[in-house]
Amino acid sequence: MLRNDQLDQWDRDTFFHPSTHLGQFARGEAPNRVIRTASGVFIEDRDGNRLLDAFAGLYCVNAGYGRQEIAEAIAEQARELAYYHAYVGHGTEASITLAKMILDRAPTGMSKVYFGLGGSDANETNVKLVWYYNNVLGRPEKKKIISRWRGYHGSGLITGSLTGLELFHKKFDLPVEQVIHTEAPYYFRREDPNQSEDQFVAHCVAELEALIAREGADTIAAFIGEPVLGTGGIVPPPEGYWAAIQDVLRKHDILLIADEVVTGFGRLGSMFGSDHYGLEPDLITIAKGLTSAYAPLSGSIVGDRMWKVLEQGTDENGPIGHGWTYSAHPIGAAAGIANLQLIDDLNLMSNAGEVGAYLNRSMAEALGDHPNVGDVRGEGMLCAVEFVKDRDSRTFFDAADKIGPSVAAKLLEQDKVIARAMPQGDILGFAPPFCLSRDEADTVVAATRRAVETVLG
Ligand code: PMP
Repeated sequence: MLRNDQLDQWDRDTFFHPSTHLGQFARGEAPNRVIRTASGVFIEDRDGNRLLDAFAGLYCVNAGYGRQEIAEAIAEQARELAYYHAYVGHGTEASITLAKMILDRAPTGMSKVYFGLGGSDANETNVKLVWYYNNVLGRPEKKKIISRWRGYHGSGLITGSLTGLELFHKKFDLPVEQVIHTEAPYYFRREDPNQSEDQFVAHCVAELEALIAREGADTIAAFIGEPVLGTGGIVPPPEGYWAAIQDVLRKHDILLIADEVVTGFGRLGSMFGSDHYGLEPDLITIAKGLTSAYAPLSGSIVGDRMWKVLEQGTDENGPIGHGWTYSAHPIGAAAGIANLQLIDDLNLMSNAGEVGAYLNRSMAEALGDHPNVGDVRGEGMLCAVEFVKDRDSRTFFDAADKIGPSVAAKLLEQDKVIARAMPQGDILGFAPPFCLSRDEADTVVAATRRAVETVLG
């Protein structure tokens, strides 16, 4: 094993970390942390600190750490057949089996699974399929994609454009012109404090209608959204939001892409967020929870009405000109099979629903009366606490005060609990592995209360 000082030096000198202050990190002004091992909901760093990971990595280690069943499946696949491609009709038993398992679990009306590596490339695939679809249908003008402010869909060129967070656009010349944004279904941050939830939904619908009217429905191909806004703040939709939005999309013949990278495979206590909120998507993006991040694997689940047109396109034009070397990688597929099996065998999805509801309830009880807590919200194994300077006037802190990051840092320092300071606003996010116990939920809540009191009094 490398000495700590050697590892530190190499880390600072050679490693380009994503989503990191580059200069501060290279100069040693920002902390690093090297993780060595993990089990259940705990990770351990090289200094022997045992940390309760209440964000499951990046809301992805859904089955929990250290699952030998998944590790064994990966090892066995690597020994038997580490790789073969999926082009021109090739495949492996693992990739075919996993496609079948996904469709067995998917909402009705889904037809096929295309496999990628991560959420960003899966959404890239989705946009390309939507464009192909409209070209086959002879509607070359119908290409724009509507996304929501505060949506998160990746950090590539088109997917970083879909992402509705300033940090992902600034200095990258994004968003590209084919992507346009509409209101986020974020009731707590509504402009008009007197608006009821119903009125706010009507406002979101009116904003969408106005955008479509302005751009012209014949230029808009699809609408993309996460069933529950994730990185933008962990915000469940107001009652009736999805039904009302889908009415508008149907009226204007606009496809729906449900980005279920976070919500797919049980995080809400339902197999998919689409089931949970009654979405009828044409495409579903999956990643993270598909393998619980034991190997990189993502997918686009393609609905019937799109699939028919894609088939027609290749009948007319030859094979689909889209594919990655690592599409349907057998090691990822083996991890996916073992992971979905484990989620079934251990009832992890119902645990996510039950313990998640307990976590949300306990967090609201413990923090709901704090003068600087404006909102405690969540669904299933997703929870967020949003801080405000003043509750009555719903005034927010300056970003420069770094309240969210300070609470997250205290939580880690005092009680060794990891939560995530969400990137826009003072929001502390929780998305633990599905195997979280009630005792562990109690630990998270008590530690959060302590951290909030230390930072804000
Ligand atoms: N969609 C959603 C909803 C996500 O949360 C993420 C990642 N946080 C992505 C897409 C992008 O996935 P990846 O980072 O694997 O590219």
